[in-house]
Amino acid sequence: MEKVTIPFIEGDGIGPDITRASHIVFNEAVDKVFDGTKKIEWLEIYAGEKAYEKFGNYLPDETFETIKKYKIAIKGPLTTPVGGGFRSLNVTLRQRLDLYANVRPVRYVKGVPAPVCEPEKVDMVIFRENTDDIYLGIEWPAKSKEAFRVIEFLKDEMGVSVEPDSGIGIKPMSERKTKRLVRMAIRYAIDKNRKKVTLVHKGNIMKYTEGAFKDWGYEVADEEFSAYVKREGEEKNAPIVINDRIADAMFQQVLLRPAEYDILALPNLNGDYISDALLAQVGGIGLGPGANIGDEIALFEPTHGTAPKYANKNMVNPSALILTGAMMFEYLGWDKVKDAIISALEATIMEKIVTYDLARLMDGARKVGTMEFAEEIAKRL
Ligand code: NAP
Repeated sequence: MEKVTIPFIEGDGIGPDITRASHIVFNEAVDKVFDGTKKIEWLEIYAGEKAYEKFGNYLPDETFETIKKYKIAIKGPLTTPVGGGFRSLNVTLRQRLDLYANVRPVRYVKGVPAPVCEPEKVDMVIFRENTDDIYLGIEWPAKSKEAFRVIEFLKDEMGVSVEPDSGIGIKPMSERKTKRLVRMAIRYAIDKNRKKVTLVHKGNIMKYTEGAFKDWGYEVADEEFSAYVKREGEEKNAPIVINDRIADAMFQQVLLRPAEYDILALPNLNGDYISDALLAQVGGIGLGPGANIGDEIALFEPTHGTAPKYANKNMVNPSALILTGAMMFEYLGWDKVKDAIISALEATIMEKIVTYDLARLMDGARKVGTMEFAEEIAKRL
């Protein structure tokens, strides 16, 4: 029997509930698909409150070392400690491991109540830049000495005037970081036989950051993938179309013509907005899988947070983490495990066996707890 080690971080709040439940589904899916010839060895690593209790440190070095060694891990949500000296544990993990792409597949899971009429038309994968743009946190409060200095510099050296009581934020977007993100999105499109890559930006207004994102994106396509990629409207024999859309127009497009979009590559802030908007279209963040991926390492995590009021109540929906695991198995090349998990999850929801969050939106649902929901999925694998 082949054993594959996967490090996992349980997470805070509802993390332990959903982690326990998801392992039932993952173990059963691997067992069924490989007929007992493969097995996952779960290796617990620590971050967040559990790490602090055990080691007095929210993010121990061993956690980074283990992820670097195995090059893969899956995690539950983490609370950002107030006054802990971090902007966020998640941001710290992403930055220290240089996990530059936040990848979120958004597709409709059959049976889930959704606010739009045809949610099944949504089938997109978002590649959101993780390490550049305004979320880098380069900012100073209004009236601070740093803000005054920057304002003075802008006036004296650059001839630009800014209101003296302004807070200041800096939005750097680099060629290197943009190109590696778009490169990953195009490679994914090639590997998975997808048809289109759309660069989403606000380049009509922010020409040298957002506009440059678009230009550098096209450059990667032209210089590195010309055999595979053609521009929208171009007569050329290539399987993938690359186009671009202005971010605000894109919010309309994903609502009005979702079937026309496939892979999206976005800078950090646009990506943040559009990920949640798209997820809402297919039924909300309780079902949103995600991953942070770099050149060597991938860290898989659901998009929702720790929902602390539901911790240890065996109540919440583990679907986002289960779908995150499905994504992880696809990354490992175990596509059949991914397919089996998604089918069993859909079968369970189609039979209206659901946790409280979906039960309140469905007529005639059978409401079950987190563990029972996972057991029902496992039965249908
Ligand atoms: P949240 O934890 O995602 O919870 C907000 C609401 O979303 C919950 O009250 C619940 O809604 C619903 N929800 C979330 N997960 C669910 C699940 N698995 N099943 C069913 N419903 C679910 O967002 P938050 O309250 O803004 O954040 C709480 C903490 O999580 C913060 O410390 C934040 O920093 C952290 N966080 C961490 C991550 C991460 O680790 N990646 C991401 C986001 C937030 P109802 O009450 O309406 O049922």
